[in-house]
Amino acid sequence: MQLSEQYKKFGISEEVIRFGEKILETLTPRFAQMDQTAEYNQLKVIGAMQKANVSEACLLGTTGYGYNDLGRDTLEAVYADVFCTEDALVRPQITCGTHALALALMSNLRPGDELLSPVGKPYDTLEEVIGIRPSRGSLAEYGITYRQVDLLPDGSFDYEGIRAAIGERTKMVTIQRSKGYQTRPTLSVARIGELISFVKQVKPDVLVMVDNCYGEFVETREPSEVGADMVVGSLIKNPGGGLAPIGGYIAGKRECVENAACRLTSPGLAKEVGASLGVLSAFYQGLFLAPTVTASALKGAVFAANIYEKLGFAVVPDGSESRHDIIQAVTFGSPEGVIAFCEGIQAAAPVDSFVKPEPWDMPGYDSKVIMAAGAFVSGSSIELSADGPIAPPYAVYFQGGLTFPHAKLGILKSLQNLVERGICRIES
Ligand SMILES: *Cc1c(COP(=O)(O)O)cnc(C)c1O
Repeated sequence: MQLSEQYKKFGISEEVIRFGEKILETLTPRFAQMDQTAEYNQLKVIGAMQKANVSEACLLGTTGYGYNDLGRDTLEAVYADVFCTEDALVRPQITCGTHALALALMSNLRPGDELLSPVGKPYDTLEEVIGIRPSRGSLAEYGITYRQVDLLPDGSFDYEGIRAAIGERTKMVTIQRSKGYQTRPTLSVARIGELISFVKQVKPDVLVMVDNCYGEFVETREPSEVGADMVVGSLIKNPGGGLAPIGGYIAGKRECVENAACRLTSPGLAKEVGASLGVLSAFYQGLFLAPTVTASALKGAVFAANIYEKLGFAVVPDGSESRHDIIQAVTFGSPEGVIAFCEGIQAAAPVDSFVKPEPWDMPGYDSKVIMAAGAFVSGSSIELSADGPIAPPYAVYFQGGLTFPHAKLGILKSLQNLVERGICRIES
């Protein structure tokens, strides 16, 4: 049976299938490059697991206090090796990416310190962590102040502004690798490295934290290899490989990680407690799969960029530029476009394909957000997912796909919706 017959069962028209195939033909060299990065990172992960002597016993968990949890401690050694850091904290007790970032900030800053973001506004949920939007328990409530220097209009760093913003009290600099819900470019590891060198030249003892969410394994190097003191992320994004059911990580300098552990558990207990329960096997296997899963998601992002660029929508990154995270932004310019796209992604899901996503007031965000996800792990955004704030410029942020064929199906389904609703037309 023909492949196109399979797509037709999902309600995708001959016209949309053919359009997709034409775009795909142009992407062969880029996909080959992504496969090569995945191969490099796959060897990095296997090498780290071998060096740490990962054994069958490591896949079992502990209960209660979790003293002498071999699997947990070994996994943290594996993460430290993969990220080229002194130490790492990788725990199911870190509930999400925001929690990991909040933990890294709150444990390494003290009252009177100042935090600086030299790359503009941080991710939405961090506004309440920092206290940009007043919130219970924020850094601001503890007397930790915040400064921000925006990127210049062309996306470059405002070096003079950054120099001027670094003062006596500047203790930490936070750099977000991915664009998040913004349409600025994502930062490459090389650019992050340039920024870190500059900041450390101005103030050598400043700590640099990189919000690494969505960036892991997209390149062959991580920000911790270009001077970051901490890299922080979520296990239900890239490094969990779709298998981790929860969790976050902080990899970095021993002292930074120790501070984070003391805050996560308790002073004096630090990394020694925290039972891993039954999640370790998924953490290990997810990390093992992460390089190829990330490549699948990247291929989906590039495919979507090229499709929607060709149809005249603004896409960030554009169809041909190099990639530093797995997020694809497409600006539809109307709520209808955002909704049609998200409904298409939902309809392609293996789980909950029959539900219709609706915009809702999500905790931590200040406008309504529509989210499409039919994930095995709830809310996982390394699985095929899309979300968009229902606010101008009506952009959708699309990410994930544990396999490229699934990402492709979702993208074609979204296009089918847009075509059927008259939001766009395929010129043949
Ligand atoms: C997802 C994300 C976060 C927050 O992670 P959650 O797991 O959603 O709390 C922070 N920063 C960036 C750049 C992200 O992509």
